[in-house]
Amino acid sequence: MNAEFDVIVIGGGNAALNAALSAREAGANVLVLERAQREKRGGNSAFTGGGFRMVHHGTEDIRAVVPDLTEEEIARTDFGQYTAEDYLDDLGRVTQYYIDPDLAETLVRSSTDTVRWMQTQGVRFEPRWGRQAFNVNGRFKFFGGVVVAAKGGGRGLVDYLYKSAEQRGVQVRYGVRARALMRGADGIEGVRALTGGREEVIGARAVVLACGGFEANREMRTRYLGPGWDMAKVRGTRYNTGDGISMALDVGAQSYGQWSGCHSVQWERYAPDFGDLDARTSSQRHSYPFGIVVNAEGRRFVDEGADFRNYTYAKYGRIVLQQPGSFAWQIFDQQVAYLLREDYRLRGATKVQADTFEELVARMEDVHPGQFLETVRTFNAAVKRDVAFNPNIKDGKGTTGLALDKSNWANPIEKPPFEAYSVGCGITFTFGGIKIDTATHVLDVEDAPIPGLHAAGELVGGLYYFNYPGSAGLMGGAVFGRIAGREAARHALQDAVAAA
Ligand SMILES: Cc1cc2nc3c(=O)[nH]c(=O)nc-3n(C[C@H](O)[C@H](O)[C@H](O)COP(=O)(O)OP(=O)(O)OC[C@H]3O[C@@H](n4cnc5c(N)ncnc54)[C@H](O)[C@@H]3O)c2cc1C
Repeated sequence: MNAEFDVIVIGGGNAALNAALSAREAGANVLVLERAQREKRGGNSAFTGGGFRMVHHGTEDIRAVVPDLTEEEIARTDFGQYTAEDYLDDLGRVTQYYIDPDLAETLVRSSTDTVRWMQTQGVRFEPRWGRQAFNVNGRFKFFGGVVVAAKGGGRGLVDYLYKSAEQRGVQVRYGVRARALMRGADGIEGVRALTGGREEVIGARAVVLACGGFEANREMRTRYLGPGWDMAKVRGTRYNTGDGISMALDVGAQSYGQWSGCHSVQWERYAPDFGDLDARTSSQRHSYPFGIVVNAEGRRFVDEGADFRNYTYAKYGRIVLQQPGSFAWQIFDQQVAYLLREDYRLRGATKVQADTFEELVARMEDVHPGQFLETVRTFNAAVKRDVAFNPNIKDGKGTTGLALDKSNWANPIEKPPFEAYSVGCGITFTFGGIKIDTATHVLDVEDAPIPGLHAAGELVGGLYYFNYPGSAGLMGGAVFGRIAGREAARHALQDAVAAA
C-alpha cells in the first residue's frame, strides 16, 4: 500500500492528541482521524475536570507546573506531597493488586515528566482548589493525590492540544470513523475509514489506536459488563463504541484487563443517555461522603466515608445499579450543605427538600418510609459526636455499632431543611481492552508485537480492575499517548528508510 502518512492516530481525545504531538515532535507526518465533528471533538477528555494525578514533592514541583502561582496562594495552601510509592500503593490497593505492574510503573514514573512535556506542547495547568482541597480556617489542604488540572478543565485541555497540533503541522480530519486496520505481510499498512457514507483506505507506516473504550455501546456493555448495564447513562461522548478494540482484535491483538469492569459513578437519575458538552446542567453527584445514601428499601448500602471521594466514586455507580430499581437517594442536612459541589445547585437535579424526615421521605415517593426513618434514627444515634469533623483529612468521625458503619465525615443528620438528591448509575469508561507493552506495542495472543500498531488511552486493558483512583485516566492517556507517538514515529521512519 502507498503510505500517505507516517503515522495515523485514530481518535481525538487526550491520548490521541498527545500521541500526535509526540509523533510530530519525532519528525513524523501525522494524520489524526476524529470520529466527531469539530464542535464535538475531544471524546471523554473534553468532559473531564482536567485533573492529572502526578507524582509531586510539594510546592516547588507544583510551581514548576504552575509558574504563575502567587506567594499569597502558596501561603494559604498545603500541597502536601504525592510520592511514586504513594501512587503505586493507591493503584495497587484500589485495583486489588490486579493492575499490570509494568504499566503501573510506567504510568507513575513518567507522570511528572509527561505533565512538564505537555507544558512544552502548550497546555497550561492550575491547582484544583475547592474540588481537591477544602478551605478549613482559611487554609486549603490537598487530599487524595491530585493537585493540578488543565486550565479550563477538559474543554481547555482539548483546545490547547488541538491548537498546538495545528500549529505544529498535524493534519486533523473530523467526522471520519475508522472501521478497520489494514494488515499486510510486514504489519499494519493503513486504515479503512468511513466519512459520511463514503469508504476510503488511507495508507500509513504506523497506526496509533486511541479511540476509547466501549462504554457508549449499549450492546457491548450488556454483553461484557452484564445484565442491567444497558440501562446505565453514559457520562461522556457517544462516539466511544469499542471500534478501536474490535479493529485491534480483528488483526490478532490480545484481549486484556477486566472486560467485566468499568468506571461508573452516582449520577443524576434522569440524566440524558449521553453527555452534552454544551449542557448548562450537571449530573455529577460527588458529595456523598458528607451525607448518607439510601436505596428504595430505605437502607444504607455503602460506607459513604470509606475513603476520600477520589478512591470510592468510581466503584459506587455499579453498586447503585445493583440496588432495587437501580436508583438511590443522597441525604444531607444544613450542617454540610455548604460542602456540596456546585453541580447540586444547577437546574436538572432531582431534588426534594423538607423540614422533617417524614415529609422528606413522602416527597421521595419511592423509598420505604418506615425503614428510612429507622435508618436515619440509628445512624444519628451511632455517630461519634466527640470527634471533630474535618473534610480535608480522613477524620475518623465515624459511626459505631451499625451493621454497615460510616468510617469518616459522619455528622448526625439533624439540622433542617433536609435535602435529598436522586441518583442512578453513570458509566465513565470501560476497563477491558487490548494488551500493550510499556513501549505501547499492541501485542498479539502470543505476546508478540504487531508491527506498526500502537495503542494508548482507555482501550488499553490491564490498568484498572474493580476501581480506579481519580484523575489517573488523563495521566495514563498522556503518558502512554506520548510514548505511542514517539514509538510509532520511530517505526515509521525506520520503515521509510528501509523502503528507500
Ligand atoms: C464527566 C467525566 C469527567 C471525568 N473527569 C476526569 C478527570 O478530571 N481526570 C481524569 O483523569 N479523567 C477523568 N475522566 C476520565 C477521562 O475522560 C478518560 O480517562 C480519558 O479522557 C480517556 O481519554 P482517551 O483519549 O483514551 O479517550 P477519549 O478522550 O474518550 O477519546 C476517544 C476519541 O476517539 C474518538 N473515536 C471513537 N471511535 C472512533 C473511530 N472509530 N474513529 C475515529 N475516532 C473515534 C472519539 O470521538 C474521541 O475523540 C472523566 C470522564 C468523564 C466522562
